[in-house]
Amino acid sequence: MPEVKAYWQNYIDGAWTDGGAGRIVVDDPATGENLAEQGLADAGDVNRAVVAARACHETGVLTAMRPVERGRMVQAMGDYLLANIDIIAEVLCREAGKPLWEARLEVEGAARYFEYYGNQAETFEGRSIPLGEGYYDFTSYEPYGVSAQVIPWNYPLEMAARSLAPALATGNACVVKTPELAPLSSAYIAKAAEHAGLPRGAVNILCGLGREAGASLVGHRDVSQIVFIGSVTTGISIASAAARNVVPCVLELGGKSAAIVWPDADLDALVSSVRWGIFFNAGQVCSAMSRLIVHDDVHDEVVERVADMARSISVGPGLDRPDFGANMGAMISAAQRDRAEAMCREAKRQGARPVVGGRKLNQPGYFLEPTIFDGVTPDMNIARDEIFGPVLSVLKFGEDEEAVRIANGTDYGLVGGVFTADVTRAMKTAARLRAGQVFVNEWFAGGVETPFGGYGKSGYGREKGREALWNYVQTKNIAISLQS
Ligand code: NAD
Repeated sequence: MPEVKAYWQNYIDGAWTDGGAGRIVVDDPATGENLAEQGLADAGDVNRAVVAARACHETGVLTAMRPVERGRMVQAMGDYLLANIDIIAEVLCREAGKPLWEARLEVEGAARYFEYYGNQAETFEGRSIPLGEGYYDFTSYEPYGVSAQVIPWNYPLEMAARSLAPALATGNACVVKTPELAPLSSAYIAKAAEHAGLPRGAVNILCGLGREAGASLVGHRDVSQIVFIGSVTTGISIASAAARNVVPCVLELGGKSAAIVWPDADLDALVSSVRWGIFFNAGQVCSAMSRLIVHDDVHDEVVERVADMARSISVGPGLDRPDFGANMGAMISAAQRDRAEAMCREAKRQGARPVVGGRKLNQPGYFLEPTIFDGVTPDMNIARDEIFGPVLSVLKFGEDEEAVRIANGTDYGLVGGVFTADVTRAMKTAARLRAGQVFVNEWFAGGVETPFGGYGKSGYGREKGREALWNYVQTKNIAISLQS
């Protein structure tokens, strides 16, 4: 088994430092054993990081740069991640319980954000507004200053890159609060910033408890903008903290996303989409396909085919099977796994029919079987609440109207899917789905370039694509009276 360094520090004001709140033990979810220790930041550490970021912003060093230069630095961070992918993926695999091949995809995904937003840095331009003779008027876009980013454990590296890259590209200094359950690999983002030559204080990476370090970060008076990715409950408390300081906030929260399947759908493509949609990262994906709403005429065939696919997935420790698509890994913690298993038991009590899985594996590590429930009805908890695990609910529909009503029938609205060969039906349905992104015939189609974010309780604001750049800038208008 490869060695993972025993103790990891935080990175504040250009220096590696211990945490004022001591240390936290990080488990390997694939074995349940202790993997390493991480220094835990306290409110004092958070304050030092915010002060460093504010000082970096106020020197003007990031904004004085020609944007192409800043963009090159952002890209260099991605290059660093790719150059070190072997070691970073291994650490990520061990701390998050994901298969090595999935961890490698995550490192590549993180690097891609730095590539994309590094490219965008020099394309962000103001405009002039005609006011008639005697005036000249223009707008420019200025960074907010200090961007605070609170990151979840399911994609610790990729989510940090998703907010950090556009924030830096637009000239903000950043403080990133990494997740307690999987904080280690984020150290490589700090190393990437050092490697890229970013000025001191531009990137601060620290881990701490949500209620302590997280809360003091989002409540800090010198933070000018907040990005939060995580649960609805925490999102509400973060939005409240943002409101108290009157700073903007982007919330990327959970989901209960549905795919609607018509009899004319390409079922091979559908089965592949289900494989990725609900079993990738053991279903711990905010935009997971957790509900499948299937037309009566094709229901039985679809259930049989997705059940066969689920049975064919091998489940086990991430380092064992490095080849692409080989296996499904562990869930992040015993608590998350047990919560998902309890939701499966409750689904049975409420009358859902277990087709595959539903139980934890009888081996060390936090594994849950790939799980499918049929006969789910919209009123059941399993159809409404986010499980954040490898559990698919299958529901039936007869009329199109009913399918849309079921799909839109939860508090969430992150993504949706439509599987049909009929383009008109696909477009009409996509327009009616209450979701920030709709996939037609391929779940997770799109990429770094395509805007992503929620309707309803899935949050507000958009990450990814050019839309995300607007989260990190404010508009200044300069109106000039031309003296004659
Ligand atoms: P969580 O809300 O418990 O924690 C997320 C982060 O917030 C962690 O870093 C945590 O330390 C911090 N935090 C907790 N309490 C805080 C507080 N009071 N103040 C400031 N920070 C605090 O969520 P989680 O369990 O880590 O992640 C799972 C959830 O995140 C799921 O609901 C999932 O859908 C959602 N998620 C959404 C997206 C998205 O892009 N929409 C992506 C990943 C995860």
